[in-house]
Amino acid sequence: MCTSSGTEVAEVPDPAPRADEVVVEVSACGLCGSDVHAVERGLTTEGQILGHEFGGTVVETGSAVTGWRVGQPVAVDPLGSCGGCAECRRGLPFRCPAAPNLGITAPGGYARFAAVPQRQLVPLPDEVPLEWGAHAEPLAVALHAVGMAGVGPGDAALVFGVGTIGLNVVMALRTAGVDLVVGAGRSPGRRAAARAVGADVVLDTRETSVRDHVAAGGRLFDAVLECSASPGAVPELLEVLAPGGSCVEVALSDEVAPVPLDALVARGLRLGGSCAFDHAEFEAAVSLVVTGRVPAQHLVSERVGLAGTPDALVRLRRPGDLVRVLTVPGL
Ligand SMILES: [Zn+2]
Ligand SMILES: [Zn+2]
Repeated sequence: MCTSSGTEVAEVPDPAPRADEVVVEVSACGLCGSDVHAVERGLTTEGQILGHEFGGTVVETGSAVTGWRVGQPVAVDPLGSCGGCAECRRGLPFRCPAAPNLGITAPGGYARFAAVPQRQLVPLPDEVPLEWGAHAEPLAVALHAVGMAGVGPGDAALVFGVGTIGLNVVMALRTAGVDLVVGAGRSPGRRAAARAVGADVVLDTRETSVRDHVAAGGRLFDAVLECSASPGAVPELLEVLAPGGSCVEVALSDEVAPVPLDALVARGLRLGGSCAFDHAEFEAAVSLVVTGRVPAQHLVSERVGLAGTPDALVRLRRPGDLVRVLTVPGL
């Protein structure tokens, strides 16, 4: 849980389900850059339990729960949604003021057990590894971003920054049928992972800028998905877009990017922010994972127990070759 200076492991009472909730025994929870960001910037509150990329097994059901059984393997959509407010109707459940988000504004998955509203559960088939439930959330983020980019067959896309989200975006672009997927990153381990999950070309941005790549005969991009949180890159990324192309910001950054407004207007470019996902996108992500249409399991580079999680969150500040770390409470 969070403390004033970071995170620590602590004993807390097991959650009890409300009438419409189940308790999930967490099988695995992905460590996310947004957790690292929140801890680093002091955006957490004392006692908060982070972790929003998880799944597991239903071990208890509330009195009004129907259709879910003890022993059922599930992926957990962390985003609460009332379904009726303006934000929910716009497809932005992350912003719903009426329903908390697990691991963000309600206790999450860096724990043995988590209480989850039944409408946020998606069943997993018995035959897939339980751990795979943790892979749906970052893929749902990627599906939403690729949906905003509006690309498909015949198009070329650049994924700038190949951390967990960038790698999921590479996979989502492949499932969207995009012709050419170019990844760009600094860490050798992550660049190798980008190639392994479907990027056609991977640039080492310490050696080749995307501007140089295009100048050397590379194709202009129909979409750029900015997953690195480097505000300085935005002008260059707009430069390598084809007229009418889209730049989608997916990474979290509290810095300010300079935006050349003349290019936006004169070349008809679009620049937008991709905020989380909706429940249908989460269900689509689960389906892609469990049917093996995306190789999400290959991204996992390390598993830690709960005791190793605070240290792993610190190490992820400088990820180097770390690709994706899972907390496995049973370890
Ligand atoms: Zn995340
Ligand atoms: Zn709402």
